[in-house]
Amino acid sequence: MLLNGSLGENLADPNTWTSSALHALKRLHEQLMQHYNCKEWAPPPNANAPAPGAPELDENARPLSLPPLNLIASLRVRQDEENVDANACSCPSLPPQRRVTKQIMQEWGRHQIALRNPPTDRMRDVHKLHITQSVPMLDENSALRSNMPQRDDDEGGKPKRLSFSPASSVCGQMGRAWTSGDRNARTTELVTSSDYVAFFHQFLGITNNPAFAPFANVSCGCQRYFMGGEGAWDHVNTCLTHSSNWTRAHNHVLTALESICNSAGYATKHKQVLTSAGNRRADLEILNIQVARQIDLLVDVTLCHDFVGAGHNGLNQGQLRNPDNPDELLDSAAADKIRHYRSPYRQNRHVAFLPACMTTSGRIHGEFLRLLYFISNKQAVDYFKALGYDAHKKKNCHRRGVFFHNNRYTLGMACAQAVAMRGAPTAARRLVAAPRNQQPFRYDPHEFDRDFSHLSDVG
Ligand SMILES: [Zn+2]
Repeated sequence: MLLNGSLGENLADPNTWTSSALHALKRLHEQLMQHYNCKEWAPPPNANAPAPGAPELDENARPLSLPPLNLIASLRVRQDEENVDANACSCPSLPPQRRVTKQIMQEWGRHQIALRNPPTDRMRDVHKLHITQSVPMLDENSALRSNMPQRDDDEGGKPKRLSFSPASSVCGQMGRAWTSGDRNARTTELVTSSDYVAFFHQFLGITNNPAFAPFANVSCGCQRYFMGGEGAWDHVNTCLTHSSNWTRAHNHVLTALESICNSAGYATKHKQVLTSAGNRRADLEILNIQVARQIDLLVDVTLCHDFVGAGHNGLNQGQLRNPDNPDELLDSAAADKIRHYRSPYRQNRHVAFLPACMTTSGRIHGEFLRLLYFISNKQAVDYFKALGYDAHKKKNCHRRGVFFHNNRYTLGMACAQAVAMRGAPTAARRLVAAPRNQQPFRYDPHEFDRDFSHLSDVG
């Protein structure tokens, strides 16, 4: 195949490559092999058996197989990346980008050093919270156990798990505005630029939050705490003086959940929701969803903060509430909700109840994630039904995956926005005795850019 006849470049022969783009590709290929534990694909000597005496490497230590340069132009991206051992493949293929990224992050020395030695305890903690969660699709205690799709599919196979990445809900969406379009246009006004900066400071574990600096020495309405300094973010997320912000944040997550339900074709109610015996009222009524042997489902949304923000002594301020098991916070919040709502509702109504809990670090409770999965499955089934098409199982899985991906991101993003509102310095400022004439915090992106000059030696 000739790229350009006059220059004589042949895509199947790297020795003829002269254009700068192809040179860059060649250099990249070399670098990946030299520094990032990649190797060029070669046909296996015997496709059925590993070479005798070859040590078994675990997946992380195994080199990533790259197609030889002369074949790249004729290849396609491998779709079923999860289950295929590229090294054992009988034909070369382009690894998917996420696999290449994983390989680079594993082998990139600076990244590994930073991972082993986080600059601060707080950064270590937030990193721990942002690691991808994985929950069993079928859980003994799950109210949705009998409603999960595929419950008969995995006999003998590995039990299915559902995953959720708190970090990619935020970082995977960097190209998206922090608004969901006109419908939620109020969000733009609610999250100001300084709130946004404050959010990312806490998200990355940088505790000395410049957005709180303008009123650092002002005392909180609770008279127990000065705003600003290391624990300011945790305090506005924990002190009742700031709870009006929490309500707004809570409603933002609720709206996102409601929009997910509505796009899946479920009618919902968030006003005049049914009350339980004892007069408790959940946040959302999802009509005719038919889970947990009931027709309608009531859901209550909770957002809890992962860190101690108003400790009785100064010692544990800013520490993780459950250092050994971060998800205990979600489990106990969900258990509380179930205790307060499920049985009381059972006494006077024929409805199911499900808690929908997340934390300010973006973690989600397993039962909430399973609800999203159930909804995504319904969307996939409806999708093919509308086409009048009896989908093959694989196609159905793929379509469900697309819906599940969108729903997770919609909710994760809404949670991040809600957290930005909840800890918003602009709102917090109104609730403490901050002097009125103080200049709000202004963020200068150029000032920050200069700090990245030290990274230019990375190569
Ligand atoms: Zn306070």
